[in-house]
Amino acid sequence: MDAQAPITQDVLTIPRKAAEGLPNLVGMTRDAMRDALIAAGTPEKQAKMRVGQIWQWIYHWGIRDFAKMTNLAKDYRAMLADNFVVAVPEVVTRQVSGDGTRKYLVRIAGGHEVEVVYIPETDRGTLCISSQVGCTLTCSFCHTGTQKLVRNLTAAEIIGQVLVARDDLGEWPVQGTPKDEVRLLSNIVLMGMGEPLYNFENVRDAMKIAMDPDGIQLSRRRITLSTSGVVPEIARTAQEIGCQLAISFHATTDEVRDKLVPINKRWPLADLLDALRTYPKVSNSERITFEYVMLDGVNDSDADAHRLIKLIDGIPAKINLIPFNEWPGAPYKRSSNNRIRAFADIIYKAGYASPIRTPRGEDIMAACGQLKSATERARKSKAQIAQDAGL
Ligand code: SAH
Ligand code: SF4
Repeated sequence: MDAQAPITQDVLTIPRKAAEGLPNLVGMTRDAMRDALIAAGTPEKQAKMRVGQIWQWIYHWGIRDFAKMTNLAKDYRAMLADNFVVAVPEVVTRQVSGDGTRKYLVRIAGGHEVEVVYIPETDRGTLCISSQVGCTLTCSFCHTGTQKLVRNLTAAEIIGQVLVARDDLGEWPVQGTPKDEVRLLSNIVLMGMGEPLYNFENVRDAMKIAMDPDGIQLSRRRITLSTSGVVPEIARTAQEIGCQLAISFHATTDEVRDKLVPINKRWPLADLLDALRTYPKVSNSERITFEYVMLDGVNDSDADAHRLIKLIDGIPAKINLIPFNEWPGAPYKRSSNNRIRAFADIIYKAGYASPIRTPRGEDIMAACGQLKSATERARKSKAQIAQDAGL
């Protein structure tokens, strides 16, 4: 990354929705929207059609002002405005890294803030979204895990992150112009703050909206959910969302994984690997991504690489090596480049793709595991972090 490149930051002033308290149409499933419209007086016979129209305005055209929903009768638009809002999170700050990565700090109900990161690449643009404020889990190498305050995001707040990113990228189609086939936001990864499988229903509903063919229309192959290993919810993810799966694997023995990813004490490696083997969607075209953070002297030996290959034998897999991103007070160091390359080489020779993830947006603290909003400063002490890590 070019260290000289400018970092820009500007404060966007998007006015707060005045009518807080009214139900938000954003985030509702089609069925829920239908019920809500009927409850507000829409004749049952028309409800499905109205859902289709409103859905298109919100998710295809990016329109949030009822007055602009011109294929609805004027008095129906007035009825909608009296009963509902179309609200997305408020963008508080927007930073652009020297490498083009954009980080948004968005504010949600209750004054909480979460971070959303957009990563442009030559062949795609990936939006990394959050599923919780903070995280109840306490992985010892993860900045988010040191944040005390936690609440689940609603489905509206999860899909809302996609909507505000599309606003900023200027990616809503313009009526009357030819369809733009190049997608700036082509992929979603649930790799921001939080454990998505601890907020299953809201994550599922939001991703269903992202995949809906009449709106944002992202293929399930372009959505990747990353979990630390909430074993009972893994099969459900395949059945009810059908997206790609990534696992924060990070260690090859229970002893080390207990320290790095403490949920391992509840669902140890053997249970996790069983769940992955039976992940119903697994096929050659749908490999599971094993995320593996490279921590100097902790999990990065040749023996680890060989054990990793043995453990995942039989599972269609891609191994994503993540150089550890440091954060203030972190109890670990990043493995050296030579060590990471040697590790990658062993895995590659065993027949697995083993890309080393280039840290993106480090200058704006947007890289993996660095996310933590400034307003949620309450954090554990260094001593507590070290103790949790079993150091
Ligand atoms: N809670 C989910 C998703 C969010 S974390 C999960 O744990 O899978 C996204 C990825 O970044 C995870 O693989 C996580 O283990 C990794 N990560 C966390 N902190 C990191 C750090 N400091 N450096 C590099 N990767 C980190
Ligand atoms: Fe939570 Fe994932 Fe961070 Fe672990 S790595 S603390 S599960 S966000």
